[in-house]
Amino acid sequence: MAKASATVTVNPQHDGNTLRDGLHRDRVTDPCSIVFFGASGDLFKRMLLPAVYALRLNGTLSNDFALVGYSRSNYTDESFREYCKQQLDEFAPADQKPKGAIWDDFARRISYMSADFDDVKCYEALKKRLDENDAQLGTAHNRLFYLSTPPSVFPEIIKHIKAAGIDPRTHVKGWTRIVVEKPFGTDLLSARALQQTVERAFDERSVYRIDHYLGKEPVQDIMALRFANTIFEPVWNRNYVQSVQITAAEQLGVELRGGYYDNAGALRDMIQNHVMNLLALVAMEPPASSDADAIRNEKFKVLSAIAPPTHEDVASMSARGQYGPGSIDGKPAIGYRAEQDVDPASNTETFAAVRLHVDSWRWAGVPFYLRSGKRLARKVSEIAVTFKPIPHRLYGESTDTIEPNVLVIKIQPEEGVTMRFEAKVPGPKSHIRSVFMDFNYGSGFGVQSPPAYERLIGDAIRGDQTLFTRWDAVERAWEIVTPILDVWEHTKDFTFPNYPAGGQGPESAAKLFPEWRAL
Ligand code: NDP
Repeated sequence: MAKASATVTVNPQHDGNTLRDGLHRDRVTDPCSIVFFGASGDLFKRMLLPAVYALRLNGTLSNDFALVGYSRSNYTDESFREYCKQQLDEFAPADQKPKGAIWDDFARRISYMSADFDDVKCYEALKKRLDENDAQLGTAHNRLFYLSTPPSVFPEIIKHIKAAGIDPRTHVKGWTRIVVEKPFGTDLLSARALQQTVERAFDERSVYRIDHYLGKEPVQDIMALRFANTIFEPVWNRNYVQSVQITAAEQLGVELRGGYYDNAGALRDMIQNHVMNLLALVAMEPPASSDADAIRNEKFKVLSAIAPPTHEDVASMSARGQYGPGSIDGKPAIGYRAEQDVDPASNTETFAAVRLHVDSWRWAGVPFYLRSGKRLARKVSEIAVTFKPIPHRLYGESTDTIEPNVLVIKIQPEEGVTMRFEAKVPGPKSHIRSVFMDFNYGSGFGVQSPPAYERLIGDAIRGDQTLFTRWDAVERAWEIVTPILDVWEHTKDFTFPNYPAGGQGPESAAKLFPEWRAL
């Protein structure tokens, strides 16, 4: 470990731009050691390391912190620091590259442990390293363990953390928390088994199940939109809403993750976690307060009000697809079965759509349509709330279609909110046409929203669980999708591949819901 030297303090100054008022309200977090299991992996270099460095640069991270990397690859403390610098040079935004005194101070707080996750001795060495950090780097006995490894090794790591006495029940000085990457289980049974392992070492208040979608600013704005305004809530119910559609569409294929994806599919990979979380935020009742558990109680209630389909219902309330060859942005794209590490006869869905109902007083009779897929025409994540048609027509020429109002919460790549409403076209005739009110985060606040991982890692260090998924919600989401998974796994879809790369998804999705918004 590097010897202590003078600490470099970062204090972000207010830059005088009133649009940015309130954006730097985050408190400096507690001193702590952050241990990244899987530190030589893809997620660490692309997302986690730049997020931690950004927290340091913007003054959120305490000056007294330490970063410990843990994986099999062979680095020394020194060569791992050099590796981190190279990754930040490549993946951090242009204004957050490692340099100067801040980087030097950050670097000396980085150390590395090279070992297999089943190596008991290494956890003892990790314990020693954490104690040294407390003594030499002022990390105050606070520890954040971040599991960024293949999910298959999560249980092993947790068991060893407990055996080495660095779990929160044994190490009672300071706080100890664990961030668990997705997926949390691959089905209901494996999720329950993983939870049992987690519970043996960590109480729920120390567990942070990450769904990086929840760290995106527009997702957090769903609650602000609903509960910091008066005009939306009165119409946010079955009396005014016709349907809700939630889309998480990607243009990318499986890239280098074919091996993982072929065992997962779109329903497990996206709908069970990200999309279900969005549904819960859109449909929940106002929480009693803005406390993490008050919000998570309401989210859980929504999921509890969704009846899992019976096996017989699955065909009529869902659609699945798999992409074949096609073209993306005018360039040819191969089909899923030709992707690296994918079974050439694969029955895995790369597109999933489902219709769910929230059986509550507020939502009775309103269908919620969810869809997610890869190699679609456009990358777009959004929630569209479509309102009921007008009850009586007064305006518009006979050829005009009067469209229903639609409120769209745009999550990515655009971030903002759009409202579609009808307006009269200027001129002597009374033509009616749809127009849009548009709010965009970038121009509205004069900054782009911070990356999701920056927000979430900051929250985990602060001890704010609001944006992390509680076990009851994870379990319930698995219960809802399990019958669909069962049917899809046991019945081969002979129409696969049934949509071209770059398309809108399969015909069966259009049959399920003809009014999907175009991708
Ligand atoms: P990688 O395969 O790139 O990295 C896995 C890491 O775990 C490597 O550092 C590897 O170390 C280490 N590792 C694996 N097995 C062992 C072992 N037995 N002992 C010690 N170290 C081991 O995975 P990703 O970084 O892509 O993903 C990590 C997690 O994040 C996964 O749960 C994934 O589902 C999740 N995730 C990833 C996303 C992404 O964009 N990459 C997005 C969302 C979630 P080494 O190679 O040195 O042995």
